[in-house]
Amino acid sequence: KEESTLSITVVGASGDLAKKKIFPALFALFYEGCLPQEFTVFGYARTKLTHDELRDMISRTLTCRIDQRENCGDKMDQFLKRCFYHSGQYNSEEDFAELNIKLKEKEGGKLANRLYYLSIPPNIFVDVVKCASLRASSTNGWTRVIVEKPFGRDSESSGELTRSLKQYLTEEQIFRIDHYLGKELVENLSVLRFSNLVFEPLWSRNYIRNVQLIFSEDFGTEGRGGYFDQYGIIRDIMQNHLLQILALFAMETPVSLDAEDIRSEKVKVLRSMKPLLLEDVVVGQYKGHSKGGKSYQGYTDDPTVPNHSLTPTFAAAAMFINNARWDGVPFLMKAGNALHTRGAEIRVQFRHVPGNLYKKSFATNLDNATNALVIRVQPDEGIYLRINNKVPGLGMRLDRSDLNLLYRSRYPREIPDAYERLLLDAIEGERRLFIRSDELDAAWDLFTPALKELEEMKIVPELYPYGSRGPVGAHYLASKYNVRWGDLGDA
Ligand code: NAP
Repeated sequence: KEESTLSITVVGASGDLAKKKIFPALFALFYEGCLPQEFTVFGYARTKLTHDELRDMISRTLTCRIDQRENCGDKMDQFLKRCFYHSGQYNSEEDFAELNIKLKEKEGGKLANRLYYLSIPPNIFVDVVKCASLRASSTNGWTRVIVEKPFGRDSESSGELTRSLKQYLTEEQIFRIDHYLGKELVENLSVLRFSNLVFEPLWSRNYIRNVQLIFSEDFGTEGRGGYFDQYGIIRDIMQNHLLQILALFAMETPVSLDAEDIRSEKVKVLRSMKPLLLEDVVVGQYKGHSKGGKSYQGYTDDPTVPNHSLTPTFAAAAMFINNARWDGVPFLMKAGNALHTRGAEIRVQFRHVPGNLYKKSFATNLDNATNALVIRVQPDEGIYLRINNKVPGLGMRLDRSDLNLLYRSRYPREIPDAYERLLLDAIEGERRLFIRSDELDAAWDLFTPALKELEEMKIVPELYPYGSRGPVGAHYLASKYNVRWGDLGDA
């Protein structure tokens, strides 16, 4: 087999995401021996930097896992030697042609594969894709492009973006990243369902009362208010991350683990869903608040946010899947910034035990006595199943208890960052965890009508104090469907 080389070009290398996530993930892959023998990393951005300045910038964010500390410094040096920088405009074919010359030099005439990571604002995606595909594509290997969200802001703009990208790339070349799909516990969702007999038979309306998908951040949008204000929490978290988890959670058994089989099952779920109705959404926005002698600014106090912005920083939504498996089961989503805690969880509430013999023996009321399965995606990854158990002793008193799989106890090794897995998959051509264009279209079709109505009707978000549990409206929405939100981190 001809020896091949890999060039990874991080476009927007001077930015936040590149520094925080992409370069550290590439280094971690290098450390683990997951990159090909011959690889080169190029940073590309407008900022003028020398190779050494880029290396210096990157080196500040590289880390080794606890069990890899020994030869960490050497490995970093080896990695940094493979990193180079090219400064250019995003819409200049000439600048990309120059990059091409530099890439070729490193590739030395071997079979050359090229991966571009677009870590740039969306308004320049198409320019870069055009220039890179016309002037800096591989001529004898593959060329792939990883694109970061946002993929448009509604059905039309997303469709337009897809059409524009496809002028220069085939669907097989486009890797739309949703980093939640690279999270360990999200990947494990299918393993849990399809490799354990005990869950899959219960995975339907017959036994599941509701499913909750919760995302909570304990800080506001400080520093990225300008970006956030154009999108809001529904586009930032729900339409992509939470909906992707929902689709994986609810899909039928795929024919195989092949990317196309899995993605086809996910699309079926999305296409079986009713678009979100305005009456099934609650929006909120955080306001300034003082706590413990410290004061926290409200969303609109951020100088990069317009004073009268109606952009939601919190949303709760109820969605339904119209198929035989899930008919009538509420899938409730909740996502918010500046809340009292941070975390992301999937919470499954099961139905009551019919004719429960032990009804009278519960210390708490019956509502608390149903089983629940909680998959904690972050932080402190874990899976726990809430069961009823007899309190030891002579009497007959039942208690709720947990079968608890806490990752940090069971798997002490640090969990790789989602970006590591996703970058490796893109290098290996594994598309399972990337979003196909028909999935994206279906996802936008579910949210676009409600988003439009919210904006056209200028719906005023319910204010909630920074650091609180969010607007009470979320509880009314849940109770409309006989649901009580579970508490993050709580069994
Ligand atoms: P960023 O720092 O704002 O931008 C990355 C680079 O793009 C900048 O260093 C800058 O490089 C260039 N750039 C910025 N604004 C530009 C403009 N208006 N026109 C032309 N170039 C511009 O973005 P980021 O936080 O790294 O994120 C990159 C992408 O990932 C964005 O699309 C973002 O939406 C998405 N994303 C970010 C995160 C995150 O955690 N930060 C998470 C998910 C998704 P030069 O000036 O040197 O050219």
